[in-house]
Amino acid sequence: RRLPAAIEVDRLVKVYKQTRAVDGISFSLSRGSITGLLGGNGAGKTTTIAMIMGLVLPTSGKVTVLGHRMPEESADVLGRMNFESPYVDMPMRLTVRQNLTIFGKLYAVSDLKARIARLAEDLDLNEFLDRANGKLSAGQKTRVALAKALINEPELLLLDEPTASLDPDTADWVRAHLETYRRDNGATILLASHNMLEVERLCDRVIIMKRGRIEDDDTPDAIMARYNRSTLEEVFL
Ligand code: ATP
Repeated sequence: RRLPAAIEVDRLVKVYKQTRAVDGISFSLSRGSITGLLGGNGAGKTTTIAMIMGLVLPTSGKVTVLGHRMPEESADVLGRMNFESPYVDMPMRLTVRQNLTIFGKLYAVSDLKARIARLAEDLDLNEFLDRANGKLSAGQKTRVALAKALINEPELLLLDEPTASLDPDTADWVRAHLETYRRDNGATILLASHNMLEVERLCDRVIIMKRGRIEDDDTPDAIMARYNRSTLEEVFL
């Protein structure tokens, strides 16, 4: 039997008072894919991701995650997904280990100590595992945020601009780690981004959003061939 798609979005709409933030989008992501949701400010990327997570209620349309309707059946899937966002802060006074323990308990991770030890090894956290989160450098915080996002070994990972405001080396490191995680776990990744180059390097599919709609949906190569610098800039207007 074929597994249901990782994410299925069908004629999804979100209207705020003045704004059609998401204006009737449909797509289906197969398991194990990495897809970039690309668009400028206000294109509707964050709202789309929030609806997929079941945090924002659609005005109309349908979201299915790992075969379950969102948000009605979110209890069945939230433990199998995770997300990373610069907007999710962790308590600054607690150590990295304490923070990861809290999130691990939230996700009911079995054998949490072993999981944290494994992540500390993979993400090179050992040197500062017992340091307060507030005392970390930006690069270290990024690694901790990634550890938090992977604490429950999610089948589905949603990321909102994972490498925005990172230095190029750290950004490369994050991309490489996401690629490895996808390869080793067959996980599905959806990431919102402003940055075509980031998406081109990492993703096997690019969905371009503009003013709440899907403007294009193709492989990075096809997208790069179709747009030149100025038409790509238009996407971001
Ligand atoms: P950015 O890259 O700037 O985060 P985005 O593509 O993620 O942009 P959204 O944050 O989804 O875009 O916003 C889409 C539109 O919906 C914008 O015009 C925004 O102002 C509006 N919007 C988003 N959230 C709300 C809200 N809670 N109330 C009212 N309007 C909202």
